[in-house]
Amino acid sequence: MNYQAILEEIEREILPLFGEGKVADYIPALANVNPNQFSISLQMFDGTSFGVGEVNKKFSIQSISKVFTFTLALNYYGKELYKRVGHEPSGNPFNSLVQLEYENGIPRNPFINAGAIVTADSLVSIYKDNTFNQILEFIRTVANDDTINFDEEIFHSELEHGFRNYALINMIKSFGNIYNQIDDVIETYFKQCSIMMSPAQLARSVLFLANHGVNPLTNETILTESKAKRINSLMLTCGHYDASGDFAYKVGLPGKSGVGGGIVAIVPKKMAICVYSPRLNSQGNSLIGTKALELFTTKTGLSIF
Ligand code: GLN
Repeated sequence: MNYQAILEEIEREILPLFGEGKVADYIPALANVNPNQFSISLQMFDGTSFGVGEVNKKFSIQSISKVFTFTLALNYYGKELYKRVGHEPSGNPFNSLVQLEYENGIPRNPFINAGAIVTADSLVSIYKDNTFNQILEFIRTVANDDTINFDEEIFHSELEHGFRNYALINMIKSFGNIYNQIDDVIETYFKQCSIMMSPAQLARSVLFLANHGVNPLTNETILTESKAKRINSLMLTCGHYDASGDFAYKVGLPGKSGVGGGIVAIVPKKMAICVYSPRLNSQGNSLIGTKALELFTTKTGLSIF
């Protein structure tokens, strides 16, 4: 299949959509990006890659970081972790508080903010003051790139304006499902969201999920086949919050979005993809990114269904 030609075709076909959607501005530092960007990177198991747009330009990974922190936590705790965070879609917005109250502070899944905050807390219990460094090191390992870092301005912007996340963590703490100091946990969470990566780096860093837990580029085992399967199922059912059903319906791949405008997706046994375009739909997922992935699976027949 001529992937490069397909990507170029997609780039042409999404052009009329520019102008639709809105860049996230509830985090002021995110509002500064140029809204009219589009890039897509395809990473194959043999190291070959294809791409259009600025595939080496870094952006804020935001909620895509939840895949990496959940991988770390699931590796350490195994199914014990599910006592504190579930694995059901929430059907609610990514920052919603409502289910927590009648579900005893147990977030529905690790990919909504509440679940990612509990996941961050579970990591602070293991790594204490060194938690963020461990997360960053892990991401550098899976991406095989130790230049990856976080953005101070975006981190501070969320520290100052992340009121909903403070509400979430306080609510969860009131139910006894946050074990550490609120400040330590929320700082870890905001820092992981402010990590900067390019589409090429992100596509490489989720390749292990497309390959039963083993990074095909380095042969390193990141997690077991069974745990890789579970993370992929969670990406399929919960990776796009209250638009997860729509994403599965239209794209048909396990994927995870972030309000920075990135989406990672995997084609099992074949490749990993990252698309970036910062204008978001009403559920906080990249509008053009979702459309581009829909076109990709339509043109290639590579959905999992
Ligand atoms: N840092 C963002 C927040 O907490 C992450 C949300 C997202 O990417 N969906 O609101």
